[in-house]
Amino acid sequence: MPPSYKELVDRARSAFNGGRTLSVEFRRQQLQQLGKMYRENRAIFVDALKSDLNKPELEAMMMEVHHVEDDVNFILNRLDKWVQTEEVPSKIPMDQSVIYNEPYGVVLVMGAWNYPLQLTMLPVAGAIAAGNAVVIKPSEVSPATASAIAKLVPQYLDKECYPVVCGGVPETTELLKERFDYIFYTGSTTVGKIVRDAANKFLTPTTLELGGKSPCFIDNTVDLAVATRRILWGKMINLGQTCIAPDYILCTKEVQEVFVKTAKEVLREWYGEDPSKSKDLCRIVAGRHVERLATYLDSGKVVIGGKYNVDEKWMEPTLLVDVGEQSKVMTDEIFGPILPIINVKNHVDAIEFINKREKPLALYVFSTKKDRQEMFMRQVPCGGATLNDTIFHVGSTDLPFGGVGNSGMGAYHGKYTFDTFTHRKSCLKRSYNSFIDKLMQARYPPYTEKKMNMLISQRDKGDGPGVLHYLKIIMTNLISMGLGALILYLILHYSDAKV
Ligand code: NAD
Repeated sequence: MPPSYKELVDRARSAFNGGRTLSVEFRRQQLQQLGKMYRENRAIFVDALKSDLNKPELEAMMMEVHHVEDDVNFILNRLDKWVQTEEVPSKIPMDQSVIYNEPYGVVLVMGAWNYPLQLTMLPVAGAIAAGNAVVIKPSEVSPATASAIAKLVPQYLDKECYPVVCGGVPETTELLKERFDYIFYTGSTTVGKIVRDAANKFLTPTTLELGGKSPCFIDNTVDLAVATRRILWGKMINLGQTCIAPDYILCTKEVQEVFVKTAKEVLREWYGEDPSKSKDLCRIVAGRHVERLATYLDSGKVVIGGKYNVDEKWMEPTLLVDVGEQSKVMTDEIFGPILPIINVKNHVDAIEFINKREKPLALYVFSTKKDRQEMFMRQVPCGGATLNDTIFHVGSTDLPFGGVGNSGMGAYHGKYTFDTFTHRKSCLKRSYNSFIDKLMQARYPPYTEKKMNMLISQRDKGDGPGVLHYLKIIMTNLISMGLGALILYLILHYSDAKV
């Protein structure tokens, strides 16, 4: 009989409490094993992604397999530096203020189905690096990738510290009853709220990587031949099932005319006369999602595409114009290959349109005008943005990736993943130096007026450096002057001797 969720979590917890995941050597070795797992099983992952989403090999390698491999290498090259304690300045110079990077304990990582390898395994790698035990829950909606993860992870990683749990809603509901020290969830806003409710029972901190409608503004200053390709690429990879895909376009009627004309040419060039025959397009993850997408088609006038087939989990790249602001396609997150265009008068109008809605996960602005770009960046709250292209901000290890408001909370990628799974524990270290005790005697009873005055005069000096700070500088300078004088004396003495 497989162990219950309680047993799984208990085992992970006793491994963590016994200190197994804490040693940096152990973390390094597990991460090396993870890298080995990816390298030795590239074909298995590519096949699984093909089976789940008909992912073309190039997309599977670029956005999933290579991504997780590079991530592990990135972590391994920096792990020694990240785990170091950090000393920060102390108000009292004799004190030492230190921050310890402490793992949370047993964390739960719940992945999503659209990029089922990277969205599950990037957080897992960061959690391992930070010294946690991790319960890994891939999405049941992408069953082939979930099975590959469930089969391979125990072959390469410590089974007790990093168990994999598969299953759907009933299993996830049961799992969420267990006590975790951190929960990292990627998926819809609706389920995000369920996860947060479950976490609340134990005040478990959470990162929620959610979705929403990501707008894309285009003005008339850009090279539309280039802009159209960049927008359609961001929309059509994974057949629109990308959390940061441009969800809808905001532009003037004039820009729309050129955009639609260019889009027709680009889509024909990329996918041929009949895109359903193209090997470079994914499929929708499930028939019910095609049915959902089909309900958006009468939200406007179809100017490109519009054909779909529920049995084949297919919908062709589709553009809608004359779309109502309150239509279904503009109220739900689309998460498919439909791109509606909304007409606005200008960038000010566009900003107002976006800010009337929930805070987006991503924002795209196509404009060569720097002041316009800056206006969007300063005035539109959103998870992140790429200017004059789509998707690329997610690929940077130097930029934190995450949502805000309805699109999520917390962020990860690169060092930010390590930080997410790390509690920064403060520690002030003090000696038994009697001088310090004298300086701070005002804190001890009896509380006299003299002590009160001392306290007030200290406070009046503000929070700038205190007298001890200057004393420390003077002492340090005196010492270095003394040392300098000694060195000078020795040099002179030595050169004299030579002469
Ligand atoms: P989902 O939230 O429907 O499902 C995710 C997982 O949650 C499922 O695999 C299931 O195990 C569990 N679940 C579902 N219903 C549940 C319930 N009632 N109780 C307990 N657990 C439950 O999300 P999805 O359909 O997998 O993903 C689509 C959404 O995810 C989109 O909104 C998309 O934008 C978002 N997303 C966000 C990111 C990001 O990085 N921000 C990435 C990918 C997807």
